[in-house]
Amino acid sequence: MPLRFDVLTLFPRMLDGLLSESILGRAVEAGFVEVGVHDLRKWCTDKHRTADDRPFGGGAGMVMKPEPAISAIESLATPGCLRIYLTPDGEPFNESMARELSGSPHVVLLSGHYEGIDQRIRETVIDREVSIGDYVLTNGTLPAAVLIDAIARFIPGVLGEEKSLTHESFTGKLLDFPQYTRPVEFRGKSVPEVLLSGNHAEIDKWRLAQRIEKTRQVRPDLLK
Ligand code: SAM
Repeated sequence: MPLRFDVLTLFPRMLDGLLSESILGRAVEAGFVEVGVHDLRKWCTDKHRTADDRPFGGGAGMVMKPEPAISAIESLATPGCLRIYLTPDGEPFNESMARELSGSPHVVLLSGHYEGIDQRIRETVIDREVSIGDYVLTNGTLPAAVLIDAIARFIPGVLGEEKSLTHESFTGKLLDFPQYTRPVEFRGKSVPEVLLSGNHAEIDKWRLAQRIEKTRQVRPDLLK
């Protein structure tokens, strides 16, 4: 059974290229992943298809109204599905969450816009609130695509070589080692000798040392 994603957004066209190119595009084509992209305005029932309104209590901007998002999620949800709202105040997304979510049969992703969404949407139809990082984007469509991409990589068959999952940044809490390809010499910089040696034990040792050093320099928090 493919993993099914349904994305609810006011900007469905933002996902066109992201879902049809590269490894994700092939995963969709090969049937490992199914993605439904839905325009939230389809569930706006008034004649102007209004998705937002002014915040009670005052303040800048607009807030997404509860009725369209709640009706949309209720109509898309299936038994056992996980309903996620993308939001900067959610729990931080990371590799282990991506792995965990790849085991779900169906994930519904709600993208917000403006100042965010009415709190009652979160309380009524959302199981989990997820942030893709400590910065604020204009809407949640890109974060939804980020989740789909990172989760899809854990579905067996999506990456040609399963091995590529085991050596990457964050596997075992270390960042990745430096990669080289031909030519051996470029603008006075050479490929490290050990990589040309054919000695796989030495290569593994060198790569591990590089991973530890890179992590120590850039993300010491991962080594704690
Ligand atoms: N007022 C909100 C706050 O301060 O938390 C920010 C709203 S943001 C301008 C509009 C929408 O973009 C959010 O509803 C959310 O769906 C999405 N968004 C923005 N940054 C995000 C992030 N770092 N992770 C996940 N979603 C994000």
